[in-house]
Amino acid sequence: MRIDLHMHSTASDGSLSPTELVALVRRQAVDMMALTDHDTMAGVAEARLEAEAAGIVFVPGAEISTRWGGVVIHIVGLGLDEHHEGLKTFLADICRQRESRGHLIAERFDAIGIHGSFEGAMSLAQNQSTLSRTHFARWLHNTGHVRQYQEAFDKYLKDGRPCCVTMEWPRIEKAVQLIHEAGGIAVLAHPGRYPFRNDWMLDHLFVDFKACGGDAIEVSSGSQSEEHNRYCEATARRMGFLASGGSDFHSETGVRPLPGDQAALPADIPNVVEALHRRYA
Ligand code: AMP
Ligand code: MN
Ligand code: MN
Ligand code: MN
Repeated sequence: MRIDLHMHSTASDGSLSPTELVALVRRQAVDMMALTDHDTMAGVAEARLEAEAAGIVFVPGAEISTRWGGVVIHIVGLGLDEHHEGLKTFLADICRQRESRGHLIAERFDAIGIHGSFEGAMSLAQNQSTLSRTHFARWLHNTGHVRQYQEAFDKYLKDGRPCCVTMEWPRIEKAVQLIHEAGGIAVLAHPGRYPFRNDWMLDHLFVDFKACGGDAIEVSSGSQSEEHNRYCEATARRMGFLASGGSDFHSETGVRPLPGDQAALPADIPNVVEALHRRYA
């Protein structure tokens, strides 16, 4: 079975609408998909309808922004009830913070003589309640402030750069708790991608994630290196995490693999697929 349990749509910072994404997932011959937009489930209803019509097993999800060890950590919730009141309030709070951060980011751009970035980024956000750094990057690229899209992150927006505004996203235990309350499986996304100051901090994160009830880690992610995938695989075996994986697809012009094209999950580690299949197939 071909699966992809980590993908984005225009409900957050992806460039395809939920309907367009499902059409691509179908062309990619993926049998089970999760929509995991950043801090929102606004695309889930549309994607579910399309997926069911196409005979694809659909898993409702979200990728939640949290903070641990001074770094933004992404926790994917798989199998979430999008009508759960506690989860809805929790996600809406994060999205409000995204908008406040957008104004702060725009102030940083104003200070270096780049004006109109808030309105520009907003105009590119299909779902205006999930404003992302990605929208700022696209606006900078579209308006010629940078020659390449990636330059927007490297020069201005990535961690430590002048227009990156750090927010107090929720703690990992809060996200895991809400995911469980809403009926989901908590998955640590692309563990190899976090910009920790020290190597040992990743192992510390695994221990803390386990201690607060985290269920699974991505051992096959389109957004981390093969070496990190192998390290996560070994960690899942050693610490008893379930395995999960996905492309982390955002757009067809991006550097990430297309839906379903990430490496297959290793056969010898228990994974999240069986439980999700029982529930949604
Ligand atoms: P946000 O959640 O608004 O802070 O934006 C984070 C998103 O920007 C991530 O989900 C990626 O899609 C993208 N992103 C983050 N860091 C980088 C980077 N260094 N280069 C390119 N894209 C990035
Ligand atoms: Mn993203
Ligand atoms: Mn992520
Ligand atoms: Mn993602």
